[in-house]
This record gives sequence, structure tokens and C-alpha cells, in this order.
Amino acid sequence: MKSFDVPIIYRSPLISAIKKKRKEMDKMKKDFSPTLLDFGPLQIYLARHFGFCYGVENAIEIAFRTVEENPGKNIYLLSEMIHNPQVNADLQAHDIQFLQDTYGKQIIPFDKITSDDIVLIPAFGTTLEIEEKLKHIGIQTEKYNTTCPFVEKVWNRSEVIAKKDYTVIIHGKPKHEETRATFSHAASNAPSVIVTDMNEAKQLAKYIAGEKKAEEFYTEFKGQYSPGFDAAKDLQRIGVVNQTTMLASDTQAIADYLKDVIIKKYKPVNTEERFADTRDTLCYATNDNQSAVVGLLETAADLAIVVGGYNSSNTSHLVELCEEKLPTYFINGAEKIISDKEILHHNFHTKEEILTTDFLPAKEPIKILLTSGASCPDALVEGVINKITSFYNIDTPVEELIGLFE
Ligand code: SF4
Repeated sequence: MKSFDVPIIYRSPLISAIKKKRKEMDKMKKDFSPTLLDFGPLQIYLARHFGFCYGVENAIEIAFRTVEENPGKNIYLLSEMIHNPQVNADLQAHDIQFLQDTYGKQIIPFDKITSDDIVLIPAFGTTLEIEEKLKHIGIQTEKYNTTCPFVEKVWNRSEVIAKKDYTVIIHGKPKHEETRATFSHAASNAPSVIVTDMNEAKQLAKYIAGEKKAEEFYTEFKGQYSPGFDAAKDLQRIGVVNQTTMLASDTQAIADYLKDVIIKKYKPVNTEERFADTRDTLCYATNDNQSAVVGLLETAADLAIVVGGYNSSNTSHLVELCEEKLPTYFINGAEKIISDKEILHHNFHTKEEILTTDFLPAKEPIKILLTSGASCPDALVEGVINKITSFYNIDTPVEELIGLFE
């Protein structure tokens, strides 16, 4: 895979050495077992795959290059580049301004932009409506478009489904930038509707099966269906695509469930007549990082720490997987570990940051599972390792560990 020019501050010499070594030893990416950092009284198990993905590195490289090549120009980002607060703050420190917040609320009006300005499209992509607005102003969107190719793949898949006259069901988070962009692209080709989770898929199934009156659909799925959607007609042939960062097991379960519902309703029927046969549209990073967490969880441990932006979808799914097995702390940087007694961490269910005391059990060796999301710099993970090791009487400094992986 292509390598990118990403600011050195985001890298970690230790983690780069570990990733390089693991890659050399497992070129086909078949081994999802973690890497053990054995400090004696403290054992940290690092997931096989975590951290910056292709799309994130690509977006960061383009953003910083744009700043470098365009001194004196107004440079805007449509919204957050990626869901990592440090990277977004760094971009703002380089005078990049955000036009919208992460939920699409306008911060700087479009009429303040001129054709001399630069507008970067984030890795999540954007809606056709916004693209049109920018073109109308005279902004060259192609040159500064950092949309991840794996997101574009979802748009292409939905277009293929649409061309065969299937309605596009998008499994994703309706407010997430990527899902809003995918919805806009899908809706330009076919009736489209978003389902957030299995609960919503079950409600949608009632309209497919004719168990609920079509009129109720418009209230129940308000804001999640395309203009002109006809619930009585548009749920007779469907195909499912998904936001690239959803939980793999949910994605599969929802597609299988909806397929089952539509086949039951129209049986006897040739499946293809009613359900587009597509594989999920999760990206490679989501698959790798989730499989690596499954591999990580095979190690019996005392707790897990997941590092990433609190609004990062892919990170929250790693947390979800860990939470099923052991106490899990979702933090966005080492500073959230206040001391060996206290940790401030994000509860993604309630969207609150909470303080937990005595999070490190008083035992030796203590075993910690560690991973991070696809938009999290490795330097932050190394910061977490350094912080935790500082609480223990450890003979091997972190720098010395690098030698073991070179
Ligand atoms: S998480 Fe996947 S889709 Fe999103 S930017 Fe990374 S590679 Fe692209």
C-alpha cells in the first residue's frame, strides 16, 4: 500500500518499529494475535492492527501539502478532516478554517467564500448539494478532494444497485458526515433510506412485510429517506450498503435479516429479483482493526484502553467489542489518565466523559489490552504507554524496547 508523507509528530518510533516487524513476519495479514510489551509488573498487549488508515494518511498529506503550497490563501475545510481532535486542532493552528461542524451546522457561511479560496473536502466525502454549491462559487473541488477511495467504493456500489432498480438501504449513522454523503449520492440515483441499527432494521422490516401502514414510515424514518420516497412501492426490491466503519457483525446481521424478510414476503421468489446480492462495504481498516480486537480479546487481561476521538465511529466500535469482555476505557490522549488511581474516559452510549477511580487493579503483573482507532496518531498511543509505565517500577525504558523490534 502507498506510503504517505505525514507530519513526524503523529508517528511513534516504537510503534512504527513494531508495525514494520509484524508486517514483515505476516505479509498476508493472517495473524491477528497482539504484540506483547512485557515490562515485568506491567504487560501491555498491543493490537495487531490499529491507527492511521489509508484514507486518513491520504487526507492529512493533502491538507498539510495544501497549506505549504498556498501561503497567503484562505484555506477551508468543509468540516472536521477526520475524527481526531489533535489533528483537527493542528490543522486549525495552520490557519485552516472549518466551514461546518461535524453535524453539518454552518460555522462560516458559504457566501463568505470566493473562487480564489481553497476548500478541502474531508476523507468522509461530502454531499452532492455541497459539491454543487462549491462549484457554483467557482471552487475547484477535484484538486483538494481528500475523499477516501473506500468511501467512493460505497457510492459506486449504491449506484450499481440503483441502476438495477433496487432501493438503497444504507446501514449507517444518519448524522455522520460519511453517511450523509453516501445518502446524498445514493438518493441521486434511487430511493434511499438509512437504518442506524438492528432495531431500525426491524422497524423497516414491518413496512417491507406490510405489517405497518406505509403512512407511518414518514414519521418513523423522518430525515432518513430520500425526497419522494414511496414506502408502499419502494420497499419491494432492496439492496444494502453500509458506512465503512460500522461493526462487521451488525452489518452482516442487518443485511441477512432484511434479505430474509423480503424473501419471506415474496416467496416463492428468486432471491435476486428482490434483494441485491452485495457484500458489505466496510473498508479494509475497519475489518483489520475489528479482527485485531477479536484477536486481542483472546488474551485474558484486567482492562482495555482504546484511544481515539470521541466522535470517531470506527473507534467506538472497537470500544463496543472490548466492553463485552472486560472493563474498557475510551480516552483521546494520555492526559486523560490523571494518575495511577484516576482516569477520565468517554462513555459513548451516553456521550459523557466520566471519572473512574482505582482503574488499575492492585496486582502484578497487570495485563492491559491497548488499541486505537483509524484516525488516531500512533504518537498518542505511545504517550499512553509512557504514562502507564511511569506508574510502575520498570527496568526496561520504552526506548530500549524499540531495539527488540528492529
Ligand atoms: S476508516 Fe476506512 S473508509 Fe474511513 S478513511 Fe480510513 S480507510 Fe477510508
